[in-house]
Amino acid sequence: MKVLFIYNPVAGQLQIKNHLWSILNYFSSEKKIKLTIHATQKTKEAYKIVKKRAKKYDKIICSGGDGTLHEVINGLMDSNYNKVLGYIPAGSVNDFATSLNLPKNMKKAAILAMEGNPKKIDVGKFNDEYFLYVAAFGVFTDVSYVTTQEMKNLLGKVAYFLQGINSLTSMKTYKVKMLVDDVVYEDEYIFGMVTNTLSVGSLYNLSNQDVLLDDGLFEVTLVKAPKDLIELSNITTYLLSGKGDNDLVKIFKTSNIEFVFDEQVPWTLDGEYGGDPQNAKIEVMEKAIDIICE
Ligand SMILES: [Mg+2]
Repeated sequence: MKVLFIYNPVAGQLQIKNHLWSILNYFSSEKKIKLTIHATQKTKEAYKIVKKRAKKYDKIICSGGDGTLHEVINGLMDSNYNKVLGYIPAGSVNDFATSLNLPKNMKKAAILAMEGNPKKIDVGKFNDEYFLYVAAFGVFTDVSYVTTQEMKNLLGKVAYFLQGINSLTSMKTYKVKMLVDDVVYEDEYIFGMVTNTLSVGSLYNLSNQDVLLDDGLFEVTLVKAPKDLIELSNITTYLLSGKGDNDLVKIFKTSNIEFVFDEQVPWTLDGEYGGDPQNAKIEVMEKAIDIICE
């Protein structure tokens, strides 16, 4: 079996450094595999390598944060080769690893990636790009994307929002027309997310929404502008706990949705900058990826 091991050496504050020897030693002890190792040096490298070389391998194992996983998924989808994927999480925010129930210990995650069984999961298509667990616009995405480190902290900005640190006056609202299963809805929101995960930024709690990673459906969350601090606090509490009801938060499931704004709006895809299109067409690609998680 030919395996490509691709890792981001700086993910999660060099988290792999203390585990690399033991992981490589373990991989090399597996007699039946032919291993190729690649350490990424810059953004988009994981994407390019996987897209170009996926066909030569039986399995791809990647290690890094959400950003690395995002690139590898895009590489696989664009390569048109559906190879089995193993993931060793190393980033600081690992929402999706938690949703997949992957071991936090890197060596254990490496053993699972080599010996575990794949499960088919859904992938989101956002215009021409793919995302694994979150596409979002509004409040926290409305910042300049200068360095990769800032991108990595994007989801941390959700935390700021949820904690109500943003002042009400600085909240920009977005006028949007949405096409959901051929029905048109029109409204104004400060924040919107399309997700396939149990949590976002370790704070947004979707555990009450019967989230399944392979049901062909993503959860859509839309937040209207609060009029006062009490309403803001209610939104925050609601999103953090995932319990109860809130008139300003709309949550539903769909397999496809199109957002049409009256201006260009910046998005984040899996915590990375996703461009600022005026129209965002999101489609669920059912069971598109084979990821090892059991
Ligand atoms: Mg789902």
